[in-house]
Amino acid sequence: MDIRTLEANLRDVRRRMADACERADRSPDEVRLVAVTKTVDSEVARALIELGVRDVGENRVQEAQQKYEELSGLDIAWHMIGHLQRNKVKYVFRVFEMIHSVDSTRLARAISKRAEFEGREMPALVQVNTSGEESKYGLPAESAVEAIRVMAELPHFRIRGLMTMAPFVDDAETVRPVFVRLRELADEVAGLELEGVEMEHLSMGMTQDFEVAIEEGATLVRVGSALFRGVTD
Ligand SMILES: *Cc1c(COP(=O)(O)O)cnc(C)c1O
Repeated sequence: MDIRTLEANLRDVRRRMADACERADRSPDEVRLVAVTKTVDSEVARALIELGVRDVGENRVQEAQQKYEELSGLDIAWHMIGHLQRNKVKYVFRVFEMIHSVDSTRLARAISKRAEFEGREMPALVQVNTSGEESKYGLPAESAVEAIRVMAELPHFRIRGLMTMAPFVDDAETVRPVFVRLRELADEVAGLELEGVEMEHLSMGMTQDFEVAIEEGATLVRVGSALFRGVTD
């Protein structure tokens, strides 16, 4: 593992985040970096944490559980960012502090039930497929608001915002409308003033497009490859 490169990559990502905040006239405190460690082992993840990263994202429950155990005792928040099966919800509560990827009312119901059992609520973001790509998980933008109304009725389910994944493109500028759409949806939901629903977070932006996402209001950017380029062979 090349620590110097890791450090330089992290510095570069943070600088680009700060520059995007400045362009958008936002305070850098409004945007958190969630380092997506799904492609690296826990030693690399540990190095990143020692460099000051406090939020870590994983997309598979089992792999996250293993890393969580290997990194036990470190003061970090784990974010579940991948598609989640209902039968894995109980494991999620052991590791994660937030789920970004709630993509059905059935999953929301399972989380609510588990939250009641655990006596602990799990902050959740609703994933919206704002680009309409068939391959992507997430609720269709057209039905997201209706689904959120249903989820808001669940007794132990706390919606804290929305999440989306933009399509893969060469020029990040072309996905700007996807992020604008998510922000508009969040504004619409906020306007409904549903109990238990707060539009505190917009989880959007990855390596290819996090700067554009910040310009459009992201509060959580999920960045993986930009951090690990050249770090492992
Ligand atoms: C892998 C992943 C990311 C990070 O992607 P990079 O392009 O490596 O930055 C972000 N969000 C989700 C949901 C992912 O699965």
